[in-house]
Amino acid sequence: MKPVQSTLRKWMQDNENFKENYIKIKKEVLADPEIKAFLSEHPGLTQKEITKSLIKLYEYQSQSKQCASCASFGACQNMLPGYSPVLHVESGEIRISYEKCHNRIMHEKQQAQEKLIQSVHMPKDILEATTDDIDYRDAKRNPAIRELYAFIKQAEKGLPAKGIYFYGSFGVGKTYFLGAIANKLKELNISSMMIYMPEFVREIKSSFKDDSTNEKVDYFKRADVLMIDDIGAEMQSAWFRDEILGSILQYRMMEGLPVFFTSNYSLDQLEGLLASTRSGIETVKAGRIVERIRQVSSAVEIIGDNRRYL
Ligand code: ADP
Ligand code: MG
Repeated sequence: MKPVQSTLRKWMQDNENFKENYIKIKKEVLADPEIKAFLSEHPGLTQKEITKSLIKLYEYQSQSKQCASCASFGACQNMLPGYSPVLHVESGEIRISYEKCHNRIMHEKQQAQEKLIQSVHMPKDILEATTDDIDYRDAKRNPAIRELYAFIKQAEKGLPAKGIYFYGSFGVGKTYFLGAIANKLKELNISSMMIYMPEFVREIKSSFKDDSTNEKVDYFKRADVLMIDDIGAEMQSAWFRDEILGSILQYRMMEGLPVFFTSNYSLDQLEGLLASTRSGIETVKAGRIVERIRQVSSAVEIIGDNRRYL
């Protein structure tokens, strides 16, 4: 008989604890400011319903609400990570449901935005460039910074038809500016396609083998924002200049889609470079390309120190 008695005693003891616990939890739950507010918003709820739903109210109380107690999405403490509890009343009954937390929404948005910058052969520091890190101490660069901000400001209302042609000497931060703009546009949900010009030429030439040239060219034609880095540094080929670059710029000009460029050369200097190809000096054709560049971008010189040795 002994084991039964002791089991029974234990059960009663536990039961006592259970009762005590229950009363304590009930008190705590009903004293919670958010639950108090919820109950006062629903004066029609009966005492019976409140007692019956105590477990739901307890669940609500124990979870972090809209990330209040979580540092970030990865550090979510809730039963359903990334979801916050919400209380509501349906036909006189208390219900609990879950909605996405702020941190989760932000995390999902960031993940979607990561896909908004596509790049071919761009260094990591450029892909991580931000306008906040632009160094203002160098006043010589102010006109370029002003243009950058003017573009962003316009883009908030709608994508401008003209990008910027940044030119200046090696290391002044031209490519960095492209990265900073692409990241700012990403926040506005505008996608950018960045490409390093010498690589672009190589890529298009190699795509002959697999017939994907048209597909690639189409992609560059239609990107929301196209960013061509280091124009003038590529090997000159009349075919690339007229058939590829020319057709991309022509399309974007007609569609009012902006293009950004960086170059070590001013537009006049670039015109000279584009004119001299293996087929001889072709000033008219080079002039046509530069004219299209002027249509899709405004030229801004970046003057400054070579930041690669700072
Ligand atoms: P460019 O394209 O004019 O030759 P880059 O944009 O590549 O020059 O810049 C040269 C180096 O200086 C890079 O390593 C870049 O990350 C850094 N840099 C350029 N501008 C800034 C800036 N505003 N703030 C911080 N680093 C910069
Ligand atoms: Mg560069």
